[in-house]
Amino acid sequence: MTTILDGTELADRIEADVATATDRLAEAGTTPGLATVLMSDDGASETYVSMKQRTCEELGINSFHHEIDPDKSAAALFERIDALNDDPEVHGILVQMPVPDHVDKQQVLERIDPIKDVDGFHPENVGRLVAGNARYKPCTPHGIQKLMAAYDIETAGKDVVVIGRSDIVGKPMANLLIQYGAGGNATTTVCHSRTRDLGEKTRSADIVIAAAGVPELVDGALLSEGVTVIDVGVNRVDANTDKGYELVGDVDFESAKGKASAITPVPGGVGPLTIAMLMHNTVKAASLQSETAVELP
Ligand code: NAD
Repeated sequence: MTTILDGTELADRIEADVATATDRLAEAGTTPGLATVLMSDDGASETYVSMKQRTCEELGINSFHHEIDPDKSAAALFERIDALNDDPEVHGILVQMPVPDHVDKQQVLERIDPIKDVDGFHPENVGRLVAGNARYKPCTPHGIQKLMAAYDIETAGKDVVVIGRSDIVGKPMANLLIQYGAGGNATTTVCHSRTRDLGEKTRSADIVIAAAGVPELVDGALLSEGVTVIDVGVNRVDANTDKGYELVGDVDFESAKGKASAITPVPGGVGPLTIAMLMHNTVKAASLQSETAVELP
């Protein structure tokens, strides 16, 4: 019997608690505010930003959306970030990636005031995470930690394989897994595009977390009986649907389910938790900036 790890249901519970914390902050005079900045015409980015805005509105968080013409210079984006850094109604700033090629992504991340960096990508926040003193845990890995905790999936002493070494998923995931304390203490292997024999690593894992952006990279043949499988991938593949594509994960769900004791679906697994943890970080940011303590999920 394989447990389907329901990210939608957990995200709903986390968001209900975030809404309660938002109310408390508002009663104390601070309504949390998240600014989203989009400098792209990419359809997927537009969808992600509008989902984040909509969730803010549902939870009572103020949402401030800014669009910058992708043909404009990097200076236009930096000026906007500077203004948001100075705006007391804005507690969190999220610049939707990717930005155009002529804009240096690292400079963007470093321009955001670290206290408002609710993605947790500013070097100061990355450093805090690595040092075991995280201010804002990056949303996707944090959501995965919450999901495993909700289903009593122990990480301590377990062999965990993370596939992918990106700054937003793979690296922070691995860093969280090797921390002391709950959701950590794992023996963690990070695999990537230059890994020689992926199957050799994944078949010896108790937990496999796939974040490669390669459709159905991981199938049952790469897994051992009883493994926990977390599928982060969201990949558009051509399909005979109204939109002309469908979304698939990095895991071949059916064959992996045959081996796994627990597995996330796509959609409905990791995705909803990423947004829930962004809301969590935004309310934490408002709490830190207003010095009003609230209980967070
Ligand atoms: P990325 O492209 O920045 O990084 C992909 C990583 O996978 C790289 O480190 C690369 O070395 C590794 N990789 C690529 N091919 C590989 C292979 N054949 N074997 C082993 N490793 C390989 O991607 P990302 O931003 O980390 O995102 C990964 C996936 O997760 C994408 O599908 C993305 O859409 C999805 N994603 C989902 C959420 C969510 O909330 N569900 C959030 C972020 C990213």
